[in-house]
Amino acid sequence: MSGTHKEACYANIIIDISHEKVDRPFQYHIPDELRGKLSVGDCVEIPFGVGNKVRKGFVIGLTDVAEYDPDKIKDILRISTEDNSAGEVSIRLAAWIREHYGSSMIAALKTVLPANKKQKTLIHKYIVLRMPLREATEYYYECVRKKNYARERLLKELIESPEDRIPYELVTGKLNVSSQTIKALADKGIIKIESESYYRNPVKLEEQTQDKKILSVEQQAIVDTVISDYDEGKRETYLIHGITGSGKTEVYISIIEEIIKRGRQAIVLIPEIALTYQTLKRFYRHFGQRVSVMNSTLSVSEKYDQMQRAKDGQIDVIIGPRSALFTPFPKTGVIIIDEEHEPSYKSESMPKYHARDVAIALAKMVPGGASVVLGSATPSLESYYKAQTGEYQLFNLNRRLTGGTLPEVEIADLREELRAGNRSIFSRSLQAMISDRLEKHEQIMLFINRRGLAGFVSCRSCGHVFKCPHCDVPLSEHRGGRLVCHYCGYEEKVTKICPKCSSKYVSAFRAGTEQIENEVHKLYPDARVLRMDADTTKTKQSYEEILSAFANMQADILVGTQMIVKGHDFPNVTLVGILAADMSLYAGDYRASERTFQLLTQAAGRAGRGEKRGNVVIQTYQPEHYSIQTAARQDYLAFYNEECAYRKLLMYPPVSHMMAIQIWARNEENGAAFANYLKAAIERSHFDNAVVIGPAAASIAKIKDEYRMAIYIKMNDLDGLINIRERIEALLEKLTNDGRMTGLVVQFDFDPINGF
Ligand code: ADP
Ligand code: ZN
Ligand code: ZN
Repeated sequence: MSGTHKEACYANIIIDISHEKVDRPFQYHIPDELRGKLSVGDCVEIPFGVGNKVRKGFVIGLTDVAEYDPDKIKDILRISTEDNSAGEVSIRLAAWIREHYGSSMIAALKTVLPANKKQKTLIHKYIVLRMPLREATEYYYECVRKKNYARERLLKELIESPEDRIPYELVTGKLNVSSQTIKALADKGIIKIESESYYRNPVKLEEQTQDKKILSVEQQAIVDTVISDYDEGKRETYLIHGITGSGKTEVYISIIEEIIKRGRQAIVLIPEIALTYQTLKRFYRHFGQRVSVMNSTLSVSEKYDQMQRAKDGQIDVIIGPRSALFTPFPKTGVIIIDEEHEPSYKSESMPKYHARDVAIALAKMVPGGASVVLGSATPSLESYYKAQTGEYQLFNLNRRLTGGTLPEVEIADLREELRAGNRSIFSRSLQAMISDRLEKHEQIMLFINRRGLAGFVSCRSCGHVFKCPHCDVPLSEHRGGRLVCHYCGYEEKVTKICPKCSSKYVSAFRAGTEQIENEVHKLYPDARVLRMDADTTKTKQSYEEILSAFANMQADILVGTQMIVKGHDFPNVTLVGILAADMSLYAGDYRASERTFQLLTQAAGRAGRGEKRGNVVIQTYQPEHYSIQTAARQDYLAFYNEECAYRKLLMYPPVSHMMAIQIWARNEENGAAFANYLKAAIERSHFDNAVVIGPAAASIAKIKDEYRMAIYIKMNDLDGLINIRERIEALLEKLTNDGRMTGLVVQFDFDPINGF
């Protein structure tokens, strides 16, 4: 792939149709009028196929060398006005993503070119006088004489205004002058209409304050190392392992300030759920107009404009979730990923890329290179492993800078509660502590691991579980006697009799957020309760409303799913109850323990953020499990060592690598036959050291009447896995051409994060 090439006569172009067959570059001739004007990454219009239908395409390379008969090479029609240039870095990044995760080039390009569709530009219009004041005054008197009132009003305003120009809206609005009148005056050459475009800006301005914190010795050491490495030309990846409140964000801000001083820009990734106004405010205060934000509440036009502002050099810092990585800064100097362990950094649609790995690849591609800073209280096994092996540089921050001691953690064994005759969902010690806090007017958070799994209905006599007929997941009981599927929305009425054994012992596993709320009302009728889950937070606004109501002491107890463990700081919370700690241990994938440890550590960290010491009660059926034990002790290293040993033993990432081949089939038998065929083909190729597992039904075997199954391949060597995938892709292409892939879809997932 060559760069901008002034004299290049040919362009290699990827056609914008999501179809495997055309997912390769096609060569086009650059007509004279476009010679020297095209760059890699530009979007162009070209004639394609037998009918020469006009298509869009992306230039991925420029060259003098014709790949086949020059007379047969078609001309590029024009540069597309709809999309803007992608830039060479984006193209290279897309190629990297395609190679590492497997997808079509177009899908990869679309990933790195978000909000690429050109949006209507916003315009401010103004009216300017086009003649000297004296002549204008003469004309004004003429209008007065002729009783031309509208013109009279407009000219008076223009003559008397201290500004050179007046807003168009003022004239049509307050002055009540019609647009025809304005046009007539413009045609006569008396006035001129000026247009000025401006960008949408989602940032609510905060007063820019210079109350910079004086960094602690530990914080300053991190900033110094990163910046001196940078100045010496070293571009590295750093991992900051620091408990919540240990000052990581303050470190990020200082690093960014230094990077900006060096004429570079910064990308800051924060999980969508943690992109609260509270977090953003700190960045706004520091960087004022030079910072912008990307998140799902922005309109397409707003997103587009932020990309334009970045490209035009109007901002230095962008904050956003995964996709903010693709902000087209001219010179990115640092990429920061906060809460780097968050599963939301992994894309769940093709290409299934991980933002951390893409960030590191991107940092190597940007002109001059960029540094990467990762931060977390509970680093992913991947990152900590790389820090241990020396690939990343590790820093520790162990102190909370605002005071506050770590909470006291107690594990409640639910099996013993049952033996003692306690059938409530609250253990005896949690009940006692809730009463105590209510009396003291301190706040309580009750956390349940996951919606969906909770609230499923089963028969206690024969064990029959009520499942969705389309999705193979348990239905959840909702208010009004309804059973609901959380994947497809299927609903049925609750029945009192088991359809399998006709017993009457049908009941719900009562541990969803609604059930907890009800139980709290029963046991503590005077307590004020707020509930936060996917149902009560349909909009971003309702999410913030619940959190600020709780922060303002409008409730004593906040009941919720994992959503409540992030974001706001609640200094008055002195008790956290984790109700079904081991729920996430049943998730059935190799990351279940890691996820459990992270959730428990984070939830526990919510207690005792203020002056008063906090308590945490972890309720579980498996008190001896190491992820529960180590989370209770807040001992990351002990957890890491246990978990790493397990991953090593079973060849799981990060010690080894794993690729999931995910198969969707409209017909179950065809799907199974195809999966077996695929497995046999892989095994026939004799890849050394590759372990092939499956095919097996996915954990959700059926969604919307499509059957899902997976084959897993484990291998120490990532490049080896990529090689296997490329061979499978070639095989699939052949099968597709032979028409043998109807009703079948295959996707790849490297080092999967979520179960399938
Ligand atoms: P983290 O990102 O690790 O959760 P923050 O950077 O948000 O930590 O810091 C937690 C709290 O400590 C914030 O209120 C912040 O203002 C404060 N803080 C951070 N660094 C310092 C410092 N050097 N001196 C005083 N307060 C600090
Ligand atoms: Zn039954
Ligand atoms: Zn369903």
